[in-house]
Amino acid sequence: MIYSCEIVLTPDKAGDKEELYIQAARKLKLNRGEITAVVPERRSIDGRSRDPVYRIQASVYTNELPSGSPYQFNFTPSDASKRAAIVGSGPAGLFAALKLIELGVTPVIFERGKNVRDRRRDLRAIQQFDTVNPDSNYCFGEGGAGTYSDGKLYTRSTKRGDIKRILSLLVHHGAHPDILIDAHPHIGSNKLPKVIEAIRNTILECGGEIHFGSRVTDIYTEHNRISGLQVNGSTDFVFNQIILAPGHSARDVFRMLERRNFALESKPYALGVRIEHPQEMINRKQYHNSKYIPLLPAASYSITCQAEGKGAFSFCMCPGGIIVPAATSPGEIVVNGMSMSRRDSKFANSGFVVTVDQRDFEQQGFGGIFAGMDFQQFIEQRAFSTTGTQQAPAQRVTDFLNGITSNSLPPASYIPGFKSVPLAEIFTEEITSALQSALRMADKKLSGFISEEAVICAPESRTSSPVTVLRDKETLESTSHQGLYPAGEGCGYAGGIISAAIDGERTAMALFQKYFS
Ligand SMILES: Cc1cc2nc3c(=O)[nH]c(=O)nc-3n(C[C@H](O)[C@H](O)[C@H](O)COP(=O)(O)OP(=O)(O)OC[C@H]3O[C@@H](n4cnc5c(N)ncnc54)[C@H](O)[C@@H]3O)c2cc1C
Repeated sequence: MIYSCEIVLTPDKAGDKEELYIQAARKLKLNRGEITAVVPERRSIDGRSRDPVYRIQASVYTNELPSGSPYQFNFTPSDASKRAAIVGSGPAGLFAALKLIELGVTPVIFERGKNVRDRRRDLRAIQQFDTVNPDSNYCFGEGGAGTYSDGKLYTRSTKRGDIKRILSLLVHHGAHPDILIDAHPHIGSNKLPKVIEAIRNTILECGGEIHFGSRVTDIYTEHNRISGLQVNGSTDFVFNQIILAPGHSARDVFRMLERRNFALESKPYALGVRIEHPQEMINRKQYHNSKYIPLLPAASYSITCQAEGKGAFSFCMCPGGIIVPAATSPGEIVVNGMSMSRRDSKFANSGFVVTVDQRDFEQQGFGGIFAGMDFQQFIEQRAFSTTGTQQAPAQRVTDFLNGITSNSLPPASYIPGFKSVPLAEIFTEEITSALQSALRMADKKLSGFISEEAVICAPESRTSSPVTVLRDKETLESTSHQGLYPAGEGCGYAGGIISAAIDGERTAMALFQKYFS
């Protein structure tokens, strides 16, 4: 017999397996000896009360044992005569490749960046020497923007697809099984590269190909059908089906698509700052100074509000994380955040952004399909012009609100360092004003959000793609060209690792159905 029940444990008992059995027996009025297994299905921290507790939704077994996971994966070599190209090895591209293999189609991935190991050297070069390699950075390279990210694996949208399947695939490739039950699963930047390597091995072992250092520079068509692609401006490949998953920062790809008359649209997105607080302060606030703080994971927060007609929200919050330089070209500054699996840095950082749309773009004289992209680049270059290096312009939150330059800046996690700059110099008046209002509202929701220790740097500008590559809602094929499947975040169909992975799978299935089934 299988029962379901919620078990509540204090943090000091959270790792105690026997306690799970005792609590389950008490809750279900069973004898401890009758229970053959307690399997946690979902685990969350409830911080509403004075002392936070773990809430565990569990399946409790009597007279039988749990059967295995409903998700079993058996990757076998695919059919070499059925081939489809994939542009980009981010979560969308990699999960599209795995799906194609399951369907018997051989994926051929073209990735402009390097493998996870070699990529690390380029990340160090940005951090330490201000050198941005336009093909290998925090956004570009094996695993995409997901590899050296925070590795949070939750998505607001449950409508998009089978999240558990994606998490199970990550576990199959070496991620910790806890991600299957945690309400806010997280892998961490130190663990993600190994998982990505394991996915690469599956793809290669099944006959798939991954071409690193292979920037797709053109896509060929004949009578509005895909006929091939060009790599690095010189080498041509024949393909009739392409999954296009280049991520939100592939500005050159979007421009090439427009030159080739693919259907594209400008898209609103969000832009703002990254805010950093001492993690210890966030812990105290979120865990109400509980005696259990040392036993609890670094606390997070999520804030949304409306400010001066703009949506405002915290974005990609990284408890115990660091702020990273995520530019993809020299001469621009972009900030983002990441963390290691232990989330043990002294800082809590988060994007804090407001929505920007056609009105903001036009005000600065930007129009057409690339209005948002040009505006984004304009802000990033403006930020760079204030420091001339990967040092990020920064200001104490209190000074930003009072419109004064910071005389000093608090300690921060950003390795290239901060330079004191009034951030109003970077944004438009409307954005500055909306951010100021939103910060004041955020402080009402999380007191201490505005404090002397809080610092903001800018710009947080790569929150989602500034364009949509249009596709049919049902067939997922480009509305302008047969054989092209726009996928993932860059084409406007995902936001985050999980939703990009789900979208990659969906496009692979759609492609298979039309061309190979
Ligand atoms: C620092 C950082 C932290 C993040 N933290 C999180 C997090 O904690 N949780 C979360 O869910 N999301 C996070 N994100 C966002 C997440 O990484 C993305 O949403 C996700 O990776 C999008 O997946 P994708 O496959 O659509 O695109 P991407 O991951 O961007 O992958 C696109 C790939 O295409 C390649 N490419 C681009 N142009 C070409 C070309 N012309 N030819 C060949 N290849 C090309 C790129 O090199 C890249 O590898 C973070 C992002 C960053 C930058």
